[in-house]
Amino acid sequence: MTFENLGLIEPILKALEAEGYKYPTPIQEQSIPILLKGKDLLGCAQTGTGKTAAFAIPILQHLYKNKTSDKGRRKIKALVVTPTRELAIQIGESFTTYGKFTGIKNTVIFGGVKQLTQTQALQRGVDVLVATPGRLLDLIDQGYISLRDVEYSVLDEADHMLDMGFIHDIKKIIAKLPSKRQSLFFSATMPTEIIALSSKILGNPEKVTINPEQTTAEKVEQAVYFVSKGNKPKLLTHLLQTEVFGSVLVFSRTKHGADRIVKLLGKANIKAAAIHGNKSQASRQRALENFKNGEVSILIATDIAARGIDVEELSYVINYDLPNISETYIHRIGRTGRASLSGVALSFCDGEERPYLKDIQKLIGKEVPVITDQPYEDDGTFIPSKKNSRSQQRPQSRSGRPERSGGGRSSSGRNAGSSRNKSSASGRSARGHRSTGSTSQSKPRRSFSKKSN
Ligand code: AMP
Repeated sequence: MTFENLGLIEPILKALEAEGYKYPTPIQEQSIPILLKGKDLLGCAQTGTGKTAAFAIPILQHLYKNKTSDKGRRKIKALVVTPTRELAIQIGESFTTYGKFTGIKNTVIFGGVKQLTQTQALQRGVDVLVATPGRLLDLIDQGYISLRDVEYSVLDEADHMLDMGFIHDIKKIIAKLPSKRQSLFFSATMPTEIIALSSKILGNPEKVTINPEQTTAEKVEQAVYFVSKGNKPKLLTHLLQTEVFGSVLVFSRTKHGADRIVKLLGKANIKAAAIHGNKSQASRQRALENFKNGEVSILIATDIAARGIDVEELSYVINYDLPNISETYIHRIGRTGRASLSGVALSFCDGEERPYLKDIQKLIGKEVPVITDQPYEDDGTFIPSKKNSRSQQRPQSRSGRPERSGGGRSSSGRNAGSSRNKSSASGRSARGHRSTGSTSQSKPRRSFSKKSN
């Protein structure tokens, strides 16, 4: 299957070619024909599958074909609502990229920053608006936005909208949309509340499901290190100094933990930046930019802050803390192994986190090999204490709004002499590790080689 076979118009084909996209991903192959026919779509897919292009391309094609010679300001014809600023920016960039030969204009609005540049862009007129829910409602209330002319609406990452407490905002937004429109609804998971919400939004939708197991979990090489909580900083330092090169995204469960990791690495002369909700939006953006352009090769992120991170050729994901929600693990490792690339995901698992590992393995349907050839191996002895018990913990995002504020101060390079670009140019291979079954998990010696293909 090629993009031509999908019936795409020349200006879009040209943009895809310029981007180096050769073949549609499964979600694109399945969704684009449905959307070009004008049908509603319920997509069960996560970021990393090529989902953005799956909805942006048909919307651009419709808008291009229905372009009128109307004089006056452009009206918002397509609305994409997404939970985080990072995702919103990413989606806006995708519309710009895929639509660069179509003349279709987009803008992105999100909270946590002054509204002036956003309202100015809106006043100049756009065809596609990408928005986070709070700022969208705010600017509607202030009279800067009218949804009257919307013909295409996309609700992206619906399950995260729910996690972040956006459900009421979403309902308010939906109520303001014209009833005659094409609706698209994407969610990585489909809990009952999400199914109920989708049925309010969609008419008689076609469904497309892209299994996470088929995508990231199968493509990404994974391994786990058993290590005590106290030894995690040492193990991370050791790996970054010896065998993990290239761009590395380290996940921390908490914002505080992310800052602590940056400091600990700093003591070992390893430069890293943190991105999480206690940072200002500007510094979050700066850290992300520096990570994308290679000035900083190690980024420490919380789950929410990482939602919009789309770094081509991300070499490694390291789960410094294992998530207690298994789906989060899939989201995290999906940061690497994007579209046509392979990746490596390494997880640190302390005694308390072993039940999480079990849940993850159940979800991905396979055992994650254990690396035993490492200096800080933990025998897994764990005496639970009330203080340490995480059984009550909820995922970080359930508390309310998405994290406001952002970006770590950037710093660059691994420790002196080791540069991200050097290692990425050389093919970035992590050295061999011995993995054995110190628990029920038994695997022979393994080596990770991160290839981009
Ligand atoms: P998404 O799931 O939309 O976040 O996309 C994940 C990544 O895959 C992004 O970096 C896209 O640029 C890339 N991508 C999307 N579609 C394709 C394709 N057909 N071929 C190659 N890369 C793609």
